[in-house]
Amino acid sequence: MVKLVSGDKVIYKFKPSMEAVETISPGDVIKVETNDCFYQQITSEEQVLAEIDYDRLNPATGPIYIEGAEPGDLLKLKIISIDVKSKGVVAVVPNEGALGDQVTKPVIRVIEIEDGQAVFHGIKMPIKPMIGVIGVAPADEDGEWPTDSPWKHGGNMDTTDIKAGSTLYFPVRQKGALLALGDCHAVMGDGEVCFTGLEIPAEVVLEVGLLKGKATKWPFVETDEHIMIIASGNNLEEAVYESASQAVKHIQDSLGIGWEDAYVFASLSVDLKISQVVDPKVTVRAAIPKYVISTQQLIESI
Ligand code: CA
Ligand code: ZN
Repeated sequence: MVKLVSGDKVIYKFKPSMEAVETISPGDVIKVETNDCFYQQITSEEQVLAEIDYDRLNPATGPIYIEGAEPGDLLKLKIISIDVKSKGVVAVVPNEGALGDQVTKPVIRVIEIEDGQAVFHGIKMPIKPMIGVIGVAPADEDGEWPTDSPWKHGGNMDTTDIKAGSTLYFPVRQKGALLALGDCHAVMGDGEVCFTGLEIPAEVVLEVGLLKGKATKWPFVETDEHIMIIASGNNLEEAVYESASQAVKHIQDSLGIGWEDAYVFASLSVDLKISQVVDPKVTVRAAIPKYVISTQQLIESI
């Protein structure tokens, strides 16, 4: 039987110590109800953004305790499905987003989804549902992280490749891992330039796995063709440096070659992609093609 975690059980901070609301075991499939990043407080374009409760932004459903997970393990989450509701919201906010200085007034757009397409000004955009916030309890030395920020524990990574069919991996830093997620987007472009995606409640189905003693420094996501190291920093330069460093390290370790040759592989085949530039820290992913190293090689070399 698939366990369900309801959307009223939420956290607003990923903390080293948190009380779990559900317990599952590796191999289990779990269904998680997620709220939109405004906790569904925005229902109309006429609403005044300043009047919503800002203490209820970015709720993440959980935490979920994974039996047997210990610090130093690698948590594996196969994203089976992300079912989004039929309507989402986008917000434009002064001084937020990549062009925040050009925003003169707050604007809300409520966008309907019809037959798998988000319709705006009559133009149909195919939806590509993704999870914005997903993470585990941080290491003691990393301390508490509000759910609006990404870091080594995951969090608000706003990465379009965290989608159905992908497999997401997290370094476990606390007993039970303590997984939580929320902030799904029906569709979003890389960068999330205006500050939000198409923010929408969803039901996410995950299959949970555990790899003992295989923790990486940052989370990574596996798609059909790539292994993407997801790193965050205070600016793009820092995020690029971290994601590229780890990609080169994993290529070097997996292939057993010198650092310079791994660096060459990275230059010839790894794509650096912007995940988002609008959260308290920005996020970049370094996408290693699976023809260079396989996930199995990466994991075995840890
Ligand atoms: Ca987000
Ligand atoms: Zn969002």
